Amino acid sequence: MKLLNLTLACLGAVLLAAGPAEARTERATVALTFDDLPALTIVKDQAYVNDLNAMLLRGLKRHKIPATGFVNESKLDDLDRPQQIGVLEQWLDASMDLGNHTFSHESPNTLGAADYIADIARGEPVTRGLLAQRHRRLGWFRHPYLETGTPEAVKREIDAWLRGHGYRIAPVTIDADDWEFAEPYDDAVVRHDEEGRKRIRGVYLDYTAKTILWYRAAARALFGRDIAYVMLLHATRLNADSIDDLAAILKRANMRPITLRQAMKDPAYRIRDPYAGKDGIEWLERWSMALHKELPWDSFSEVPKEIEIAYDRIDPDR
Ligand SMILES: [Zn+2]
Repeated sequence: MKLLNLTLACLGAVLLAAGPAEARTERATVALTFDDLPALTIVKDQAYVNDLNAMLLRGLKRHKIPATGFVNESKLDDLDRPQQIGVLEQWLDASMDLGNHTFSHESPNTLGAADYIADIARGEPVTRGLLAQRHRRLGWFRHPYLETGTPEAVKREIDAWLRGHGYRIAPVTIDADDWEFAEPYDDAVVRHDEEGRKRIRGVYLDYTAKTILWYRAAARALFGRDIAYVMLLHATRLNADSIDDLAAILKRANMRPITLRQAMKDPAYRIRDPYAGKDGIEWLERWSMALHKELPWDSFSEVPKEIEIAYDRIDPDR
């Protein structure tokens, strides 16, 4: 009996020690989502936007990765409107899906329910039309900043409107803050700083690989298993230039890319989101409140300081 206890204790220790390594090898699935279409960039240039989308879509196709892009239709008028719409068409022609990310990328915390709902409705006509031309339906909504509305009455009103208008909320269960790396990267591209580009991309990919494993550990803390993850990314030059490396990271992590629709079949996504605070937090954190379980915050890594500093230098009104 003593020997058995000892053996079980050893086995336990081995299993505990195997945490992150185990997460790396076990199979899982992930749906990639790209926000802020046609593009998130500090470069106000149509060719730049066209090129980064063409590269991103080529990469996604090359690696057989389905993706959903979330559109801010206010951006269509930032540059050449027909070409901006052309970018959205390229996403659909590449067999990707599109969703609504509001018209102007404002927060419900500042707009209130009525104006926020108006901003959602204003954000759909072009995207809905392009999908309809292809006999498809607009059905996904992603909250900018992942801010879902506060206080609770505001959130409930927005949720009810979305449901009533055939939208399903696209939650996020992996978020490696790619937006924060993307502006310093754009800046390096514009300055023809090859060394800087390489460094930022390296730091970004290391951080992303590490953060994916943290989210997998977090899901296991809540559910005792991997869920079908939904990863938040943005339509950026950084991701266009990194798509081969991102695909390799997923492959190394034994994560198979699937569509958002497939991922959302995971029963985890049926859990109520109880959070009605002001912060834009991802869904594992929301569910940890519903399930009264802790996430492994001790092992969470923040975005590297050098990236934060570089971002604040370029975009001081964070
Ligand atoms: Zn966004």
